Amino acid sequence: MAIAMKIASHISKSSWIRRMFEEGERLRQEFGAGSIYDFTLGNPDVEPPEAFNRELVSLAMAPLPGMHRYMNNAGYPETRAAVADKISGDSGITVPADNIIMTCGAGGALNVVLKTILNPGEEVIILAPFFVEYKFYIDNHGGAPVEVWTNRDTFQLDIDAIEKAITIKTRAIIVCSPNNPTGVIYPADSLKRLGDLLKKMHKRAGHLIYVISDEPYARIAFDGLHVPNIFPLVESSVIVTSHSKDLALPGERIGYLAANPRMATASQFMEGAVFSNRVLGFVNAPALMQRLVAKLQNESVDIAEYQAKRDLLVSELTKMGFSMVNPDGAFYLFPKSPLADDVEFVKLAQKHHILLVPGAGFGAPGFFRIAYCVDKGMIERSLPAWRSLAREAGLKG
Ligand code: PLP
Repeated sequence: MAIAMKIASHISKSSWIRRMFEEGERLRQEFGAGSIYDFTLGNPDVEPPEAFNRELVSLAMAPLPGMHRYMNNAGYPETRAAVADKISGDSGITVPADNIIMTCGAGGALNVVLKTILNPGEEVIILAPFFVEYKFYIDNHGGAPVEVWTNRDTFQLDIDAIEKAITIKTRAIIVCSPNNPTGVIYPADSLKRLGDLLKKMHKRAGHLIYVISDEPYARIAFDGLHVPNIFPLVESSVIVTSHSKDLALPGERIGYLAANPRMATASQFMEGAVFSNRVLGFVNAPALMQRLVAKLQNESVDIAEYQAKRDLLVSELTKMGFSMVNPDGAFYLFPKSPLADDVEFVKLAQKHHILLVPGAGFGAPGFFRIAYCVDKGMIERSLPAWRSLAREAGLKG
């Protein structure tokens, strides 16, 4: 075999995803892209905020000497300082610029953190439903994912289930709020309970378990809700995030990680993480993007647009008989599949020209995901197709 057996096996296990995308492409070619309602990808259709273009043009018109050279592997001091200021404001805890590393997106940051902390065979708890790449990222660094369900009705943290899943080998827990794929936000009191549990274990057994807070959707929260910052609530925490969603820059690969200054081991962690960022071959985050995002820490895409799309879909789909948790943020819905087999339901949806992802892809069979970071007109045009799909699946329609 020309490629590693493990990679071949990962590819074949996720081959249904490829088949689904191929079927989507076939439908687009046969019927024209305009009559296919594609809700599969978390790739925002909105443009970055105007301030991004302004800063980009001003930098291009007045280039700084050496602005395309290597810099410190952790990033430019002024970018790290801007990010540190933003997190200090959000958390009420003074975060030094030394605790920030600019990364190639949240995906890059997750890999840097996992490489830094994992010994072979150590376990990382992931909370179902979860972003499927977590499993591959954990495997990249010799770790073992341990799946723990959130509450199946609310998708909120089940602290007792997490406690039961912790073993002597547990090294980290990944939490994602607002969540992909459910859109729920974890309230401060439940994150505090998690923090208290881990603190108790650390005190009793000297067992340090990191919380990796994956939060690329932190600025996308609805109804005036505020996403609690993890630093005051969980001492052993590291934030990993990006500007892929809040500034709509996923192709630019710009994100960061931040270590909680309250963590006794923060400086050792940072030394390891800077090294990992280098030897994973990222070397540093894209230089031009670092300059730009330093100036955009208080900007974001129009959240009201996402909220309007959520409101439209939740209200229309509920009328048709679908049932779902009303999400507090991000741009996903995760309704119950009306058919017992969610993959069958997604295939049925394709017949109605609606492209979705089955819950099985998030470790949560029995559900399906709608990514509504798409044009509102497309959502409106798709509603008759949703109605006939609902009827065929045995709902009111
Ligand atoms: N984490 C979650 C929960 C995501 O949904 C995504 C992307 O969709 C990522 C991480 C990776 O984001 P990035 O583009 O910043 O690597």
